[in-house]
Amino acid sequence: MTSIAFIDLAAQRHRLGDRIERAIAKVISHGHYIMGPEVAVLERRLAEFANVPFCVSCANGTDALLLALMAKGIGPGDAVLVPTFTFAATAEVVALVGATPVFLDVIEGSYNLDPAGIECGVAVARRRGLTPRAIIPVDLFGQPADYEQIGQAAKAHGLLLIADAAQSFGASYRGRKVGSLGDIATTSFFPAKPLGCYGDGGAIFVKDEELASVLASLRVHGQGSDKYDNVRIGINGRLDTIQAAVLIEKLAIFPEEIEARQRVAAAYSEGLAGWAKVPRVSDGTTSVWAQYTVRIPKRDAAAAQLKAAGVPTAIYYPKPLHQQTAYRKYPVAGNGLPVAERLAREVLSLPMHPYLDGPTQSRIIEAVRKAIV
Ligand SMILES: *Cc1c(COP(=O)(O)O)cnc(C)c1O
Repeated sequence: MTSIAFIDLAAQRHRLGDRIERAIAKVISHGHYIMGPEVAVLERRLAEFANVPFCVSCANGTDALLLALMAKGIGPGDAVLVPTFTFAATAEVVALVGATPVFLDVIEGSYNLDPAGIECGVAVARRRGLTPRAIIPVDLFGQPADYEQIGQAAKAHGLLLIADAAQSFGASYRGRKVGSLGDIATTSFFPAKPLGCYGDGGAIFVKDEELASVLASLRVHGQGSDKYDNVRIGINGRLDTIQAAVLIEKLAIFPEEIEARQRVAAAYSEGLAGWAKVPRVSDGTTSVWAQYTVRIPKRDAAAAQLKAAGVPTAIYYPKPLHQQTAYRKYPVAGNGLPVAERLAREVLSLPMHPYLDGPTQSRIIEAVRKAIV
């Protein structure tokens, strides 16, 4: 039997034919490798796609979060609320700017930040003498967090709302596209994300021009209008022109890929409901299915059996951040974060990409059913 890919980037490349090679060749021939014309074109198209006034591209999704915190002057003495069940970058950037991450628990069905923990997170921060400044919900596995509830609580506590949309670009929430949710939204174009480039890439979405220009300055060492008079401390955080050229081509087929992802996810949910706990998408919300993640009580045994059957799986995430070595010293909102701790023991992500064909997916579903009993 042919081996199954967890994410089949080769199938997408095949579909695009030589479009990407030609786009890259064009950059090589014009020679503007840094901030070439493709970068501005991509930023315009991404802003249009997400229905947001401004998009500032950058080197990766981690820098996108870092730049957002830097632009808002978040630093020592400040607290930023983050979910514990996420990729490390969400909390890492908070610590990098000298602020304190406060970890919150998540909701079982959606895997996303539980708004009920915000009040407690703010109180925990205050007790430590910190100023709660921001909250970073994560749209885990491609589904937007509950922005309405989180937004209300953020407003009540004067928190800036930064959406970590690294996994969810292309999804929507109550008629609004990801990118327009929150005060600032950030995303990643790491190759395995729903919209990925051929290396590292990221973007920040904002509604006001002043903030967009501060972000654009910060990503080039804090440069001012005279490029040798730096007006603030920044980073080298630009997106390469070649990656912008790749993304322009991939964005053109992204809407169709999103539909294909949704078909694949629907087939999994139909085939596995009653066998495993399948992910729940909230009313009025769409997911781009960065991952299709089920919950299985004897997860490790099932994963081993699937591996033997030639079905690759992954565990996102085996350890919540508040239990990881570098993050143990930071406060948690509550007496432990039990939902995230249980999810870490039960989650299993299945092969997921827009080019997963019906027969292969049936084979995966069959293998999962067998591995569970
Ligand atoms: C991938 C990811 C990031 C970081 O993006 P990079 O482009 O890899 O730096 C941040 N947050 C979440 C939730 C992610 O999944």
